[in-house]
Amino acid sequence: PSGPDPRAYDLHALRDRVLPEREGRVDDSIPQLEDADPDLCAIALALPDGEVRSSAQGDAPFSLQSAVKPFLFALALLDTDGEALDRVGIEPTGEAFDAIKLESGTGRPPNPMVNAGALLTASLVDGSDAEARADRIARGLAAFAGRDLEVDEDIAHNEHLLGDRNHALAHLMRAEGSMSVGADEAVAVYARSCATLVDAETLAVMGATLAGAGVNPRTGERAVPARVARDVVSVMATCGVYDGSGRWMRAVGIPAKSSVSGAIVLAARGALGAAVVSPPLDAQGTSVRGRIVSERLSEDLGLHSFAER
Ligand code: GLN
Repeated sequence: PSGPDPRAYDLHALRDRVLPEREGRVDDSIPQLEDADPDLCAIALALPDGEVRSSAQGDAPFSLQSAVKPFLFALALLDTDGEALDRVGIEPTGEAFDAIKLESGTGRPPNPMVNAGALLTASLVDGSDAEARADRIARGLAAFAGRDLEVDEDIAHNEHLLGDRNHALAHLMRAEGSMSVGADEAVAVYARSCATLVDAETLAVMGATLAGAGVNPRTGERAVPARVARDVVSVMATCGVYDGSGRWMRAVGIPAKSSVSGAIVLAARGALGAAVVSPPLDAQGTSVRGRIVSERLSEDLGLHSFAER
């Protein structure tokens, strides 16, 4: 980090500046997401000493959706002692998040940041059945967040019910022999994890835990080993924004994960974790305001990984 002190940065002014932006469309895959307030906009930073700073609406709840994927990958790496890396690829796809496509030759999902990969990583965490794995994921997410998180049962139910492409992906992985749990069970566990409720402040802490080599800056507790955090952030950098990952890395330069709720979690190594949420999405499923805010934060706080120093 080489920019100004994030403690003095005016997040309220940044939010005011981005609010008039009208581009983007709110996701309509389930009613609960379709009903999201298009003018919700929150920004939060979590610093290495545990201080959390946020704009207005920093405590407004939203579901994690795909922002859960880095953490599912982390828990799968932890629980399988790294064997998850043999079960899921780590190459970017250049395709949409829900593309019905597996790695050719191996039948593995292409990477843990697309739906196929997250369905698989969610199936690799410890637990003998769906309920046990969902509990394990809830405990794991709580370690990243520094507090217990609620699941929105209606969202979990609808995503399980209406996630036809996720069911298709799970069945395809079953057919290819890359998924060992039942397809319906895999979708149920993944849908539940997507339905986990956070706010921008909490998601920033989760990002800061990844940025801080696996130690939660608020609780001081280690959520995952440093090597796991490194692996996760590396794959966020290459695959976290789907078919927008290259453009993101050039413009923002901070490993991040986007999601259909309009949330983005960012992990700037050693510097901070950040979260932005605003529901209208661009064609790659990235929050339009979230992208603008992320570019500004990167520029103003000197967070681009490859910036001239
Ligand atoms: N729950 C969503 C799905 O599986 C998550 C997708 C996303 O956020 N990109 O369709």
